[in-house]
This record gives sequence, structure tokens and C-alpha cells, in this order.
Amino acid sequence: MPTETIFSKIIRREIPSDIVYQDEQVTAFRDINPQAPVHILVVPNKLIPTANDVVPEDEPVLGHMFVVAARIAAQEGIAESGYRLLVNCNRDGGQEVYHLHLHILGGRRLGPMVMRQS
Ligand code: AMP
Repeated sequence: MPTETIFSKIIRREIPSDIVYQDEQVTAFRDINPQAPVHILVVPNKLIPTANDVVPEDEPVLGHMFVVAARIAAQEGIAESGYRLLVNCNRDGGQEVYHLHLHILGGRRLGPMVMRQS
């Protein structure tokens, strides 16, 4: 069984969080340490630890995450200016919380997609 993270507690509303959207499939809330003026996480209510753990049965919820992300981007007023949707996977991807989530980042020019090697 995958280990629950703090995101499961947020989904069940057991700890406080700034939830902007929730339905039976996904929960979206503001990142506690925002990297841009708009930084919202869209999380499947079902615990999927990483992108490696996605299975064919998850296709509906994964598609729904994008539909919800687009709706939130419009609500936040960043749809036209643009934004970035991002999923980190495991150590090299910089994943910190092992409950799959889609970052919505926007509200400023975000710069290069990845850090350049020095
Ligand atoms: P990642 O590195 O892709 O796993 O991103 C995890 C994100 O979760 C980071 O941007 C954190 O700031 C964010 N985060 C961690 N704990 C919380 C929390 N309790 N509420 C909201 N966001 C959180």
C-alpha cells in the first residue's frame, strides 16, 4: 500500500489549506510556498505516489486534472497571459511530496523551463 502524505489530509479537510476547487475526483489548493503569483496544485483524490505509478484506469482522472487546471487558470486570470503545468517525478525531478500533483504556475514570466547546468 502506498504511504499517505499530507495531501491526503488536505483532501479529507483534516488540516487547513486554501482549497480553490474540489470534486469527487480531484482537489486543488494553493501551494504553501508559492513560486509565482499564482501557484496552485491539482491533486487526484486517489493516492497515486508518482508519475511512474500511473495505470490505464487513471486516464479519466488525469484528463480531468487538465480540465480543472484550465478552468482554474481562467478563474485566476492567467489563461491569456500564460502559465506552466508541471509534474515532478522522483529525486531528479525534484519531487518532494509523493502524491501525484499538477503544479499550475503563472502570473509572471516564468523563464526557462529547466535550470541550466553550470
Ligand atoms: P513537488 O516538489 O512537485 O513534490 O511539490 C510539492 C509542493 O507541495 C511544493 O511546492 C510545496 O510547497 C507544496 N506543499 C507542501 N506541503 C504543503 C501544504 N501543506 N499545503 C500546500 N502546499 C504544500
